[in-house]
Amino acid sequence: MSHFSCQNGALCAENLPLAAIADQFGTPTYVYSKAAISENYLSYALACRQNGRTAETALVCYSVKSNSNLAVLHLLSQLGSGFDIVSGGELLRVLAAGGDPRKIIFSGVGKTRDEMRLALSHGIACFNVESVSELHRLSSVASDMGVKASVSLRVNPNVDAKTHPYISTGLKENKFGVAFEDALSIYRTAAALPGLTVTGIDCHIGSQLLDDAPLLEALDKLIELIDVLAAEGIIIHHLDIGGGLGIDYESEAPVAVSDYLARLFAKIDAWRVAKHQGAPIKVLFEPGRSIVGNAGVLLTRIEYLKPGSEKNFAIVDAAMNDLMRPAMYQAWHGVQAVAPRAGTPTVWDVVGPVCESGDWLARARALCVEEGDLLAIMSAGAYGMTMSSNYNTRGRAAEVMVDGDTSHLIRQRETPEQLFALEKIIP
Ligand SMILES: *Cc1c(COP(=O)(O)O)cnc(C)c1O
Repeated sequence: MSHFSCQNGALCAENLPLAAIADQFGTPTYVYSKAAISENYLSYALACRQNGRTAETALVCYSVKSNSNLAVLHLLSQLGSGFDIVSGGELLRVLAAGGDPRKIIFSGVGKTRDEMRLALSHGIACFNVESVSELHRLSSVASDMGVKASVSLRVNPNVDAKTHPYISTGLKENKFGVAFEDALSIYRTAAALPGLTVTGIDCHIGSQLLDDAPLLEALDKLIELIDVLAAEGIIIHHLDIGGGLGIDYESEAPVAVSDYLARLFAKIDAWRVAKHQGAPIKVLFEPGRSIVGNAGVLLTRIEYLKPGSEKNFAIVDAAMNDLMRPAMYQAWHGVQAVAPRAGTPTVWDVVGPVCESGDWLARARALCVEEGDLLAIMSAGAYGMTMSSNYNTRGRAAEVMVDGDTSHLIRQRETPEQLFALEKIIP
């Protein structure tokens, strides 16, 4: 069920009209539904329980980079979520939001020594290591601190996720992870390093996957490797299949979380019974988009209508700096009028005020609108605010979370003064 729907002719977030949010907080503003985020998280947690897993044997580690607002992290932490981080900054965010460091895993190809020290000092659960050099650096940092770092190797299963090339990460040509063929020897290296304890294996093959077949194919490759490692005496205690499940932007109909998890756990159970006499292995997930993507919209106002001979432009007060996905991936986002009008629609390109031809949010949309109308750019909860910038010295949008018929400002709109407060004129 969508938590953004029309009630009495007004588009609402849960039970609150978006027009009321625009009146109170201005535009552009990201609006998130608390119920939608909770439901999406619980679809994973529930599927784990339904397949016989407990909080000890399955863990959802929400991918912080998809939406890192403290209120979102706090909500998920309260629901029991762990977190997948990719920087020291994200670690500090999770801690500030009350996240449990023992449920944090640290991904990313370029972890610095400082980030490693910070993560080790807080006792995070595991480092998802992506190269041999990183193993050596992590071992030396941990040894210097007199601790051992738990590591998982991000393995590249070389499966085609069949998604946009920029968000496909599981093929050999990607910068992520280590090649499947090299994994065994790299695990041997890891097992021999003094500052490390090998605990897991992970992969993340891409994003916006609509079908679970590539994920299950990746699982088969990980299983194969875990058995090879076991024969060498390297015991893998957790298997992390990554994130990547897609959402409905237009009419994509992605696989249901419950169906995907049922198939995944069935495969794991059959394998453990056959090869490991039923000994449990902990299973981790790193979903981002599928938890927050459809739980947010970008609320914007039409400044000008500019009809032309070739194209009609609706110039709105949100821009590519607020929502990068269309400019960066040619991504499609639904556009809905907040107060739909009767009449014959016109075809509009919805564009922002930024000085770039790539500054568009949606193309060729049939809308019946006038200047001053509010639009909702749909499915903007993931990789919206987190990818935003200050290009054109535009302050970042405000963020609001709706709970029932109540709105909470969860991030103030940035002021221009804040944008150049760190800058200095030379004498
Ligand atoms: C971005 C990322 C995720 C989340 O991907 P989604 O497609 O948003 O679910 C998970 N794991 C890693 C390592 C990532 O980089």
